[in-house]
Amino acid sequence: MINRTQVGIVGAGPAGLLLAHLLQLEDIESVVLETRSREEIEATLRAGVLEQGTVDVLNESGVGERMMREGFVHHGIVLRFAGRSHRIDLTGLSGGRSIMVYAQHEVIKDLAKARLDAGAPIEFGVKDVTLLDLDTAAPRIRYRDGAGALRELACDYVAGCDGFHGVSRPTIPSRRRTEFTRVYPFGWFGILVEAPPATDELIYAHHERGFALVSTRSPSIQRLYLQCEPEDQVANWPDARIWQELHTRLATGDGWRLTEGRIFQKGIVAMRSFVVEPMQYGHLFLAGDAAHIVPPTGAKGLNLAVADVRVLARALTAFYRDKRSDLLEQYSTTALRRVWRAEHFSWWMTSMLHRFHDDTPFHHRLQLAELDYVTRSRAKATTLAENYAGLPLD
Ligand SMILES: Cc1cc2nc3c(=O)[nH]c(=O)nc-3n(C[C@H](O)[C@H](O)[C@H](O)COP(=O)(O)OP(=O)(O)OC[C@H]3O[C@@H](n4cnc5c(N)ncnc54)[C@H](O)[C@@H]3O)c2cc1C
Repeated sequence: MINRTQVGIVGAGPAGLLLAHLLQLEDIESVVLETRSREEIEATLRAGVLEQGTVDVLNESGVGERMMREGFVHHGIVLRFAGRSHRIDLTGLSGGRSIMVYAQHEVIKDLAKARLDAGAPIEFGVKDVTLLDLDTAAPRIRYRDGAGALRELACDYVAGCDGFHGVSRPTIPSRRRTEFTRVYPFGWFGILVEAPPATDELIYAHHERGFALVSTRSPSIQRLYLQCEPEDQVANWPDARIWQELHTRLATGDGWRLTEGRIFQKGIVAMRSFVVEPMQYGHLFLAGDAAHIVPPTGAKGLNLAVADVRVLARALTAFYRDKRSDLLEQYSTTALRRVWRAEHFSWWMTSMLHRFHDDTPFHHRLQLAELDYVTRSRAKATTLAENYAGLPLD
């Protein structure tokens, strides 16, 4: 069976769902195809820091109400090194911008609800998605629906929002794409804990045993991370070892103490930087993790997905409303400018805060000198603040 839509969207992550929502506001039709179920996408725990531009996009497009009610605005972060804490005043240094702590799966719930309430389609549980004729004006998406029936979706454009392991990027012929990759020699061991917040602001800790991060999700759930070996296993980390390591890496002379609680989720995140260029091929446009990955140290992954989609939605709107294709032609160039800025920031934060295998005492001293400079120099702190709170969207 063949259906038709204007924009076929592959993937119902933040990129795919937000794109569908922004297009719907402009009366542009789309169909979203997702391999997983609604319950699964709404239960996947990932990012939690929304930069100012992301908050603005969600509010301006009418899906920010719950975020404004339940999320937490933070005006600073803490860098902790050599046993001392140093606050970076994000708002003061970035011209009044701030961040919102609101979990990615809550954003997903808000976007999925907005779309389904509007009666617009998300096809969950699809399989065998294949993108066809992307280099023509009549691309198609072939797939099996949730019941196993073979279907085809004819569209004007395809948005590849299917994450790093999706089918969209590999469908671009290899001679027409260039990939840039850096894999870091460590991972993040993450836990979710039932406990009140131990701190009002996120703590990024540099320690000779490795990086640690104290983050939060809600007044009763905290998110903590520890740098670990890339091939490490969850089974290697009984609760007592996790707490001991966190206490060691977060120790200060100022009396602050981490609040312990029941650990109810453990997982390991790989650390990678990745970009594909260009982010478009024929009538296919890549957005979000399908096109780029950043290590989570800069909290940029979800925010970059939102920024891509905003550029793409504007370009598609210009095409359908004003018959202008110039913004679509420039999509990759426009999006990549922000992508590479965020890649650099995420790499810089990662390099400054983590222990590397080939670390020497010399390298360790260089990191401390960099951290000292960031916390003493207004110019350097401003660089961190404006990147972390998020540069204005184009
Ligand atoms: C474990 C983990 C922890 C993270 N933590 C942080 C963090 O703390 N801070 C931060 O900023 N970022 C973090 N990130 C990154 C952030 O979550 C991503 O950048 C963000 O999810 C990107 O959104 P997306 O929509 O591009 O891709 P995704 O969220 O990956 O969504 C892609 C969707 O496409 C679907 N899909 C895949 N293949 C197909 C197919 N063939 N057909 C149809 N659908 C398909 C997937 O099921 C998925 O729902 C983390 C990522 C991971 C994996």
